[in-house]
Amino acid sequence: MTKIVESSDNMDNLIESNSHFAFEKMRKNKDYFKSIENTQDPKVLWIGCSDSRTSPEILTNCDDPNSKSAIQYAVEHLKIYDIMVVGHTGCGAIKAALDYKHVEGDVATWIKPIYNTYKRYSKEINSLKTDEEKVNELSKLNVKRVVSVINHLDFFKESAKKGKHINVNGYLLDLHNGQLKNLHLNKTNFHDGL
Ligand SMILES: [Zn+2]
Repeated sequence: MTKIVESSDNMDNLIESNSHFAFEKMRKNKDYFKSIENTQDPKVLWIGCSDSRTSPEILTNCDDPNSKSAIQYAVEHLKIYDIMVVGHTGCGAIKAALDYKHVEGDVATWIKPIYNTYKRYSKEINSLKTDEEKVNELSKLNVKRVVSVINHLDFFKESAKKGKHINVNGYLLDLHNGQLKNLHLNKTNFHDGL
């Protein structure tokens, strides 16, 4: 049976950090939250991965209804013009895709699109020497796949027809040094069937 906890050290730390953040903001500017509470004006939609702290669904299965609606909301309502798709080195989801036959249940369904990408490029991925290189290469290919899928979403193409061009680009976050590497996918031919 799942144990339900009301709180844990991690949760308490988050609440404490939030409280500290809010207190510091108010101390410097007592109207800080008043000034931002009615503005929701982000410039960039960042699509990442849960083990590097952002939503995993989109980076694995970006054409499922939840992910699609999140992107559509960002594009049509928040007026986003830039979407950053960010994979990262040492990604757990990518490692699982490389070891797909040992993955079971919902995780297997979730990982399947990445596994399909691996199957397609298995020859070149398997020719790499280390596991680390294999994981990072598949991470890059998966980012490329997601960029391609986003560019093929119906509302996205509609938006382009109406003259609103949204820039979608892919990056790889190197967890060893915190650097974001631009994969220059905004110039990619997206019709390569990834
Ligand atoms: Zn990850």
